[in-house]
Parts: sequence; C-alpha cells; structure tokens
Amino acid sequence: MRALIQDAADRASTFLEQRPKSPVFPTPEAIHGLDALAPFPHGPSRPEEVLRLLDEHASPATVASTGGRYYGYVIGGALPATVASHILATAWDQNGAFWSTSPVIGRIEEITLDWLKRMLGLTAETGGAFVGGSSIATFCGLAAARNHLLAQNGWDVESDGLHGAPRIKVVVSEESHPSINKALGLLGLGRNTVTKAPTDDQGRIRIDSLPALDEHTVLCAQAGNVNTGSVDPLADLADHTSAAGAWLHVDGAIGAWAAAVPAMRPMMAGIERADSIAASAHKWLNVPYDCGIAFTRHPDALRRSMRMTAAYLPESGRREPSEYTPEMSRRARAVDVWAALKQVGHSGLAHMIETSCRHARTYADAFRAAGHDVLNDVVLNQVLVRFGDPDVTKRTIESLQRDGIVWCGGTVWQGKTAMRLSVSSWATTDDDVQAGIQAILQAAKTAASPLART
Ligand SMILES: *Cc1c(COP(=O)(O)O)cnc(C)c1O
Repeated sequence: MRALIQDAADRASTFLEQRPKSPVFPTPEAIHGLDALAPFPHGPSRPEEVLRLLDEHASPATVASTGGRYYGYVIGGALPATVASHILATAWDQNGAFWSTSPVIGRIEEITLDWLKRMLGLTAETGGAFVGGSSIATFCGLAAARNHLLAQNGWDVESDGLHGAPRIKVVVSEESHPSINKALGLLGLGRNTVTKAPTDDQGRIRIDSLPALDEHTVLCAQAGNVNTGSVDPLADLADHTSAAGAWLHVDGAIGAWAAAVPAMRPMMAGIERADSIAASAHKWLNVPYDCGIAFTRHPDALRRSMRMTAAYLPESGRREPSEYTPEMSRRARAVDVWAALKQVGHSGLAHMIETSCRHARTYADAFRAAGHDVLNDVVLNQVLVRFGDPDVTKRTIESLQRDGIVWCGGTVWQGKTAMRLSVSSWATTDDDVQAGIQAILQAAKTAASPLART
C-alpha cells in the first residue's frame, strides 16, 4: 500500500508542478486519448497499473481550473492543505452519517461550523450542514423554510405533504441563479409559480419595488450575482422579511465568503439575519470538489425536514451530521473545509478574497483602458466585458478557449452579449493577470480585424 500511495502522491505532485505550463483547457488530442480508458475490464488489473492508466491518459485531459488563468463559470482551485487533507481523509474512508459511524467527522463538523460562523459573522443560534454545493445547500435552506412556514400554520409538511397545505408564497430575485428554481421544483413549491422581485442594472433586488411579503412567504435573495457579482441590499431585505414574518434565504454561493473580509462587511451587512444561507466551499474557499454549506438560524426546522428514524439508527445525544442533510452516508466534506480554514486562518481568508477582487479590478481597468466596455461595477470577483459588437465578443471568447492561455466563458447580461471572467482561484498571481490581459486584448484585437470578419 505504501508504494502505491507514494506513487499516487508523486504523480499528483508532478501534475500540480506542470499545471502552470499546461494549456488551460485540454487539447482535442488529449480528450481523444481518453478512449484508452474504454476497453472493458473482463478481469482484474494491478492497482499500480490502474493508477498508471489514469495518470497517463486522464491527467492530460483535465481542465486547469486549479491554475491561475482559469476564469470560467465560478470555479475555485484547491488550497495545498486541502489537497493533502482530501488524500488523508480518503484513506480514512469515514462515513460521516452519524456520531457512531465516525466520531471524528462528527467533531470536525462541530468545530468547523463554529469557525465558519465566527469568520462570517453569523449568529450563535446558527446551525448548518456540509453538503455537495450551493444547489443542495439551497435545497436544504428552502426545505427548512417550507417546514418552518407551514409548522407555524399547524401543518406538518414532512408527514402530510403539500396536498391541501396552506400555500407558500415564493418571491425570487429576477436575477436568481437557476439552482433556486431547481430546488423549488424538487420541494414541490414549483419553478414557475414564483413572484419575481425586480432588479436594477447590477442585478440587485430593488427595495422600492419589492413584492408584498407575509408570514407565508420565502424571499430568495443573493450575495454574489453569477454575472455581475452584485450583492442584494441584505439588511433592507432582512428588515422587510422580519417585519412580515417571512423567511429570507440568501444564495451566497459566491459571495458569502466576502462576509469574512472586514472591508467588505458593509456590503454584506444583514447576511447574519438571513434565515438560511447557501455557500459553495469548492468555489471561492478553494477546497476540492464537492463541498458546500447550508447555514440556517433555524437548525431545528432543517433537522425536522431531513431527519429519519428507525430502530437500528443510533441516538448519541450529539449533533448527528446526517440529521441535517439529504444524504445519509456521506464523505468527510468538513475535513477539507477545516484544513482550508486552518491553513489560511481568518486573516488569510480575508486576504484571499480581497486578492481575487483586486485581480478582477485589474482586469476591468485594463479592459477599460483599451477602450472596451465593462458592463458591471466590479464589487466582487466577477467582470463582464464586451469587445465591440456581439460577433467580435463571441469570436474573442472562441479564440481564447482555443489558445489555452486563459479560459473565459460567455453570457448575455441584460440583452448584451459579454465575456464573463471570474477570479476564484487562490493560485492566480499578478503575473497570471498580466499574461491574461495580454492574451485577451490580443484576441479581441484579432477578432475585430477586418480579416476575422470575413
Ligand atoms: C455556482 C452557483 C450556484 C450553485 O452552486 P453549486 O455549488 O455549483 O451547486 C448557485 N448560485 C450561484 C450564484 C452560483 O454561482
């Protein structure tokens, strides 16, 4: 076993060392090379051979999202301590369902939740769950909301379902992430039966046109719009939801981490008053996939919606992790979060977030200086830019994706075709940003030339 694990560690180290030089997106040949993994395994292989095949054929076909020049979607890298903790926790192979299946995971979850609450400035009563990402964290938050709002009306939704239940009103930001709709669909609240809260030019909910809220309402706001990075006016929204007795859910997949930064705290004010918050740890916290956190100020409501009972299931009197999550058996997600927070500390977390934001501003400044149109106020790590008309913008994105120096995706923001750039990896350096600026400006220039138009 030792030789095998050392082989894996050596291969992983070599992979990470080569990462800065490898293309940001795999070449067509590398993707074609994956066919070597396809032959059906009629019989066994030696573990060393399994690893060799994976490394030789799959490593070259990976997307370099752990590097410093991948700016697509919102994809973080993995801090060194988290790559290592992930390897160790895989060797542990703990089932984090219950205290009795794994006291170590039960305890690390308690410690990590406590650290997260302190770093993000959340209140003492806040509880939470370690899940697969913000999509599931939002599902958890809205399940807790459904339980809480209906319980106030004397309705036990987990026992009796939604048939004949009092109606829950759902208000979502006009600019909400599609994972909100998905969770609403899964929970039987409906993807299309929502009321839309109008937003401004940055995608923030406009307080002056907020739909009416009442004690049957869930309001879904966000901290970190996936295009602009903008943050809803959370304190004002919390004033409205608390006055109405409504539930405030905040999709903080990207932006929740900004609450750890003292200088960004004013923009995040009110997040601690949200009834539930979704945050992705595999994005800006830079832990390996997959990992997200559902926070709620009503942990009992979350527990009522997720808990199951059976004679063989233990009751330790401790916090049982799976009583707060959709899954029962689950991997040790909190270990990587603990490792990330321990490596960087509170100050380092703030520094990591601020550095990404600084890089995003550097990109935006360079685009503006070259005469390009930056469409958003760069308040977080997201930049939207367009290079002349939609065709030039699209051709710029295509050529960047082909050339492999940086990877950026496209979007349409309020009717305008744009390139999106999201700086989410701890690994991005000033040199990466300078190389990226050069590559992007050159690609835009080429795409705009008369030759490219023909
Ligand atoms: C990425 C993202 C999500 C979904 O998060 P996952 O961790 O991918 O499930 C939700 N909302 C926003 C704003 C996001 O950026």
